[in-house]
Amino acid sequence: MARSVRRRHGHSESRGRDLKRLRIAVVGAGVGGLAHGILLSRLGHTVTVLERFTEPRPLGSGLLIQPTGLAAMDRLGLRTALEALGHRITYLHGMTASGRTIFDLRYTDLAPDFYAVGIHRAALHLVLWEAFQTCGARLELGHEVTSPTDPTLSGADLVIDASGARSMLRPFVSGKRTSAFPFGAVWASVPDIGIANATLAQRYVAARIMLGYLPVGLRAPNEAPMAAIFWSLRAENYPAWRNGFEAWRDGARTLWPELGPVMDALHSADDFTHATYIHFIESRPWRGNLLLTGDAAHATSPQLGQGANQALIDAVVLADALSATEDLPQAFQLYAKARKNHVRFYQYASLLMTAFFQSDSRTLPALRDAFFHPMKRVPFLHREMIRTLGGLKTGLFASNTPNHIVNKVSPS
Ligand SMILES: Cc1cc2nc3c(=O)[nH]c(=O)nc-3n(C[C@H](O)[C@H](O)[C@H](O)COP(=O)(O)OP(=O)(O)OC[C@H]3O[C@@H](n4cnc5c(N)ncnc54)[C@H](O)[C@@H]3O)c2cc1C
Repeated sequence: MARSVRRRHGHSESRGRDLKRLRIAVVGAGVGGLAHGILLSRLGHTVTVLERFTEPRPLGSGLLIQPTGLAAMDRLGLRTALEALGHRITYLHGMTASGRTIFDLRYTDLAPDFYAVGIHRAALHLVLWEAFQTCGARLELGHEVTSPTDPTLSGADLVIDASGARSMLRPFVSGKRTSAFPFGAVWASVPDIGIANATLAQRYVAARIMLGYLPVGLRAPNEAPMAAIFWSLRAENYPAWRNGFEAWRDGARTLWPELGPVMDALHSADDFTHATYIHFIESRPWRGNLLLTGDAAHATSPQLGQGANQALIDAVVLADALSATEDLPQAFQLYAKARKNHVRFYQYASLLMTAFFQSDSRTLPALRDAFFHPMKRVPFLHREMIRTLGGLKTGLFASNTPNHIVNKVSPS
């Protein structure tokens, strides 16, 4: 397993150093798993991706690809394809049921070309999948990996666990426990009725209720534009929400009358996907040749809309670390060091923000309602809020550009 191949893509192309070809098994064909497959195959490694489902399929509705995630898609050569399907988002607007503004943030206040992209999960998957199919990696479907001793992993020089928030391999790497957020959400894909062009729009009642609308563009070329709607829900209240679906729909219509046509098109709770969230972070995400990436290494609530972005950045940084050194432990250290501050900031910021928007607290939403919007009047805080939203923060008082965050490791 020590054959040498010449690097074929990315940074490595200009350098032309020979690279040891590794046998790499990637567990999970989600956002991160497909990105790993594409990038590592392009480097000349022999990659097999193992997916539990019998066909590769994205679950859920839409998500937001931040400027950092866009920079990672650029490194994959897929940014244009993603933007062709997605809906450009330049504005975050959130208000309470009584009409008080909580967020009124424009990405473009930081820089004219600073924006995010709302994308349907199926569209993100399609873009990654098309590139995956031609990258040379193999995909094995219907294969659930539950242990590092799984026979399919034997012979792999490197095993990447990209199996998401509910990773079964995580306990083999880390003794840390996961903790469940009390609130999750129900999500649905609906036709985009144009009530929030270029905007992630939200309505809140204390921190108990959050209703959001995100335009996500086309699910596939030539289809009609879609939006994702989401409703915050205590995990144990899901059965009651299902049973009271029609009353809920009437209440949502009252909370946000412009959503009426969308609510009319939703016929039952089956039109929604229920998601629950957990929190986990491991700063040394490997043991032996098994490395956790994406949600397997750092899961949290999507309050700040960073998870898919983080998984894409992980894939780019790992590919660069493996290009920089042939020594696996050294590559892992390089990778973990490059990702540490960015990942840690967003894990804890998401935890904190979730309490302001999805909790039973009375104090936190009252503080939110009193202070979040006025903070914008302080230019420094205004910029920090947009940087946080855009995925640029690497510490409480530190931030970086999308390109720096994504291209943190220079292959030697
Ligand atoms: C409701 C919701 C909204 C979100 N909104 C946003 C957002 O706006 N912006 C954002 O950036 N992120 C968002 N996220 C987070 C984002 O979806 C995740 O962070 C991202 O998908 C993580 O990528 P991943 O590759 O680590 O895992 P995933 O994309 O979850 O992929 C994991 C893959 O592994 C497979 N798998 C799992 N277990 C096994 C096994 N044992 N063996 C084999 N295969 C396995 C799964 O089937 C899946 O295909 C949201 C998440 C949720 C739930």
